[in-house]
Amino acid sequence: MKAQATFLLLAVFLLCSCKNPPRENAIASAKTENETYYGPIIDMHIHAYSEGDPMLGMAHPPTLRNKTYKGARTATEQKQQTLERFRKHNFVKAMVTNGQSWKTEVQDLILVGLANTDIDSLRKKHAEGNVQVLAEMAPFYAGITADDPSLEPYFALAQELDIPVGFHVLPGGPNYGFHLMPQMLGGMRAYNANPLQLEGVLVKFPELRLYIMHGGWPYVEDIKALMYAHPNVYVDIAVINWILPQEEFHSYLKSLITSGFGSRILFGTDQMVWPETIDDAVAAVNSANFLTFEQKEDIFYDNAADFLGLTEEEIKAHKEN
Ligand SMILES: [Zn+2]
Repeated sequence: MKAQATFLLLAVFLLCSCKNPPRENAIASAKTENETYYGPIIDMHIHAYSEGDPMLGMAHPPTLRNKTYKGARTATEQKQQTLERFRKHNFVKAMVTNGQSWKTEVQDLILVGLANTDIDSLRKKHAEGNVQVLAEMAPFYAGITADDPSLEPYFALAQELDIPVGFHVLPGGPNYGFHLMPQMLGGMRAYNANPLQLEGVLVKFPELRLYIMHGGWPYVEDIKALMYAHPNVYVDIAVINWILPQEEFHSYLKSLITSGFGSRILFGTDQMVWPETIDDAVAAVNSANFLTFEQKEDIFYDNAADFLGLTEEEIKAHKEN
């Protein structure tokens, strides 16, 4: 009888412990799930402009979350407002398309991206240390897909030089951009937007360090198929983290994470002439309550550090800051 009673008491105790975990544990698990990440951030998708660019001063029409953004009026303003946000959010590295002119101010921070130039210039600029990433490749806007033979030398060069390639499909340009900016975006077609167009390239250049910009949204199943088939495919989550309704962005992100691809998701903003989008992009990841703190750290920093091949010293310096 005594043994039975003891067993009963133990069982009741255990049952109670399961139902009511110690307070410290409850706090610890809540903290892991909802903790805001303030550590170092690598942005894999930033743009610099030259004065006179037609995008400067352009307001962003209402996004799919019904928000508008005021456009920076000059290239200097766009740079200053962007760099202010780099400081605010602890950006320690950024891939900046056409970012050469920013290097004098923030040399250690910038990886220069370039794509819209001929192969010989790219090779020369890379040798001089003036190009580190082949990005942003956006033939999509001209109605050209990744498997077009004219692009093959670019992929061949990136593989040979062992530099990352950032390739753009949808979205990009404002939603309905084809209708709003036909002179700039008139060549884009939704039927040219599927990321599977990159598979032939991946087969031909199996060592390519490729990241598909904007997460390949909305083709989540096809992106999963590509990531499953090819371990060298990464995605950035630029634009989709501020142009889509937050619920849709979170559901897309969650789908990639639950499929096991959480270590190949790179943070990016693609601020263009709207630097305020950087604040919304950072908040969109931090507000994803299904992410653990470690998963946020992967997205904001660790995955890009790995993709870019940062040294242990660099990583340590970034994390100690
Ligand atoms: Zn971009």
